[in-house]
Amino acid sequence: MQKIFPPTLHDRGVIARWRAWLPDITDATPVVSLNEGSTPLIHSPRLSALVGRDVRVFLKYEGLNPTGSFKDRGMTVAVSKALEAGARSILCASTGNTSAAAAAYAARAGLACIVLLPAGKIALGKLVQAIAYGAKIVTIDGNFDDALQLVRELADDPAIAIVNSINPHRLEGQKTASFEIIAELGDAPDAHFLPVGNAGNISAYHRGYREWLTLGRATRAPRMIGWQAAGAAPIFHGQPVAKPETVASAIRIGNPASWSLASAAVAESGGAVDIVSDDEILAAQSWLARHEGIFVEPASAASVAGLLKCVRQGGECHAPASGTIVCTVTGHGLKDTVTVLDRAAALAPPVPAKREAILAALDEN
Ligand SMILES: *Cc1c(COP(=O)(O)O)cnc(C)c1O
Repeated sequence: MQKIFPPTLHDRGVIARWRAWLPDITDATPVVSLNEGSTPLIHSPRLSALVGRDVRVFLKYEGLNPTGSFKDRGMTVAVSKALEAGARSILCASTGNTSAAAAAYAARAGLACIVLLPAGKIALGKLVQAIAYGAKIVTIDGNFDDALQLVRELADDPAIAIVNSINPHRLEGQKTASFEIIAELGDAPDAHFLPVGNAGNISAYHRGYREWLTLGRATRAPRMIGWQAAGAAPIFHGQPVAKPETVASAIRIGNPASWSLASAAVAESGGAVDIVSDDEILAAQSWLARHEGIFVEPASAASVAGLLKCVRQGGECHAPASGTIVCTVTGHGLKDTVTVLDRAAALAPPVPAKREAILAALDEN
């Protein structure tokens, strides 16, 4: 059979770049990739200055993955393994980004994709993605936790592969972000801040850092500092939240699937899980866009909101007084435009297409 793509065209994806550290991947695994990963690690001079003279803050900009979130890193591995295992369809519950990634990688692989979405709780851009990539969408009267429970109940058909983060291949793919950070900084950071929803990503990052520490490719593993939204903070409170509520829909989760893995990651790294309010999340989202030119979706801003909270609180917070902090910003701002538009002032009516009219309009602003 003629190969459509020479292998060199796939040499930039997560599997191609980090294959040596992905034991799930064998020669028998058909690689399904969209050249995900290798996202920018952007130095933030303004955040660094806010936190302290001896601190360098970097943003791992995961919104620049092919479907606009870090979910692509796990999905390339999960969908490749599903194809290898002979699955015909993939299935997931989603707050939006998992379904966007699943639908895209399924299309790439020639698999059907079924997504269960909590009705009315998905950011529009993410829903648009699932539609555009041709997923079969079922919306349910219930929240994400209900949808994930239903996915578990549908798990018995061998032709259907579940690609939620309860699929262990997902976390394997996601751990590669830590490798990229170490490769770029020359060592692991001192602290790593990230939003926590279903708690897979904090577990995956920790695993990546630990693996390279063990191999001597880094001299330390960072303290993992996870941020939950105040209205959806089961790990922080130590008990499930029946009706999680937050503007940050990607972390609106009341009973995280990777709760115990995340707790272990936090304990082993000397880290913490803490909370930020919706106002703090939205303020951080706006701050990041206006001060650094980086537009992220609300959930992504939770990591930066946490750092800004640390700055306000001073001493007793989770930011080290010196060294390097990485904040993962997990998804692209264009996925959730309504949240920004709802808070923006209405656009003024159009003015005549004349120089004077423009100057007058600018004067009024
Ligand atoms: C999935 C997601 C999260 C939460 O990650 P978990 O692994 O579920 O903790 C955060 N931000 C964005 C943009 C996401 O898509």
